[in-house]
Amino acid sequence: MTALSVLSVAAEVFPLVKTGGLADVTGALPAALAAEGVIVRTLLPGYPAVMAAIKGGKVVLSLPSLFGGGARVLAATAHGLDLLVLDAPHLFDRPGNPYLGPDGRDWPDNPIRFAALARAAATIATTPALRPDIVHCHDWQSGLVPAYLHYTAAKAPPTVMTVHNLAFPGKAAPSLLATLGLPPHAYAIDGVEFHGTISLLKAGLQFADRITTVSPTYATEIQTRDAGMGFDGLLHHRAAALTGILNGIDTTIWNPATDPPPPPPLSATDRTGRPANKAALQRELGLSTDAPGPLFAVISRLTHQKGMDLLLEALPTLLRQGGQLAVLGTGEAWIESALRDAVSPGRIACVLGYDEALAHRIQAGADALLVPSRFEPCGLTQLCALRYGCVPVVARVGGLADTVIDANPAALAAGVATGIQFAPESASQLEAAIRRTAALYSDSTAWLALQANGTATDVSWRGPARQYAALYRSLLAARA
Ligand code: ADP
Repeated sequence: MTALSVLSVAAEVFPLVKTGGLADVTGALPAALAAEGVIVRTLLPGYPAVMAAIKGGKVVLSLPSLFGGGARVLAATAHGLDLLVLDAPHLFDRPGNPYLGPDGRDWPDNPIRFAALARAAATIATTPALRPDIVHCHDWQSGLVPAYLHYTAAKAPPTVMTVHNLAFPGKAAPSLLATLGLPPHAYAIDGVEFHGTISLLKAGLQFADRITTVSPTYATEIQTRDAGMGFDGLLHHRAAALTGILNGIDTTIWNPATDPPPPPPLSATDRTGRPANKAALQRELGLSTDAPGPLFAVISRLTHQKGMDLLLEALPTLLRQGGQLAVLGTGEAWIESALRDAVSPGRIACVLGYDEALAHRIQAGADALLVPSRFEPCGLTQLCALRYGCVPVVARVGGLADTVIDANPAALAAGVATGIQFAPESASQLEAAIRRTAALYSDSTAWLALQANGTATDVSWRGPARQYAALYRSLLAARA
């Protein structure tokens, strides 16, 4: 197997900077791909946290005039990742969330900031000493890379564009076309134009050699008007170039055997630690330890996409089933406030914040994880839940449909069920799913089987990495 090199271009990479699942993917995939003979270098912006983590780095490229200031690309390693960091203080030396200013709104110059990331990537990709075999772009923030490479005269490597969430088109005003360094004819239906504006994501979807998204079901859904977010026509047109490859999770990070404090065992063969974990979690969150029903949990962005309004409607049913609820999340103000109002001592606890360690303790202690998303490209929390023996209760959409096997009579009889699915995404169907979950929970044989099947499921990056490696190799073979 000959080694091949990939330049991965991303705005978030765990553990350096993360707002969602995108960072988990870009942080974990390089190590998994190494086992497939693929060497990944990741280009990301030099936010303050990134600059602090790399402490220096070697200058491999100077960009004296990059969208209003001087910039450099620094090569460095951190957390086992081979990084190229775009040091452009005029664009990225801003603390906090990578996209939002202190007023909680998108930075007005976000199109320029991420055009700069894409311009740096395109320059790396066409510089002989740095040129990778493949450029792999992630979401709208790197969507301009395939466009820049399309419009260059230089020899450019093939590109892959991965959609982690189609809901973020990365819009820019049409008046920015020239500023972004795009030719006038790029503002067209077969260019970067998107319903009367510019979309950075559209640029990637239009010009990348291959498009992937993070589950087979989402790959099909996004070609439909309902889930296509305005890109369905283009994605349908490019269906031959579009594939769905499921995400995995980093099983060294999501490993119940190494979670602090010294963890009671949780594995496919040994779940004796679960009751102690559950009791500790209940005490930590002020929940009573004698509820008759399951302890449900939510670890999520608190948004309409994630179906959090459906959850609020279903709370009375959850309580009537003797259940409890633990929520960890941040998001839309009205949902946060409604959840705060719903807190009920002993029964419903809510932690409004972002807390990785608590997310682990919840997965280790809660009985069931609720994921009532309206759409879900892949979803990672249900994969973590499977690994921890926390039974996922999910809407039958996107990657949730692909990763959880519903406990219907046939699947239970065959011994393959791993969770509960419901459809369509409505409060009444969520309530029905909660009732089914409570019934299964009270049947300890059935419940233990669900947990055992879940913990035995391979949720690692091994399989997906093999698929990405095959995709890269087929792309190179097509170019040869
Ligand atoms: P999305 O990327 O749409 O937000 P995913 O399920 O793909 O959803 O990924 C979310 C990731 O972020 C998971 O790793 C999840 O555990 C984590 N996460 C979400 N909210 C929180 C939170 N409040 N605290 C800790 N981790 C969180």
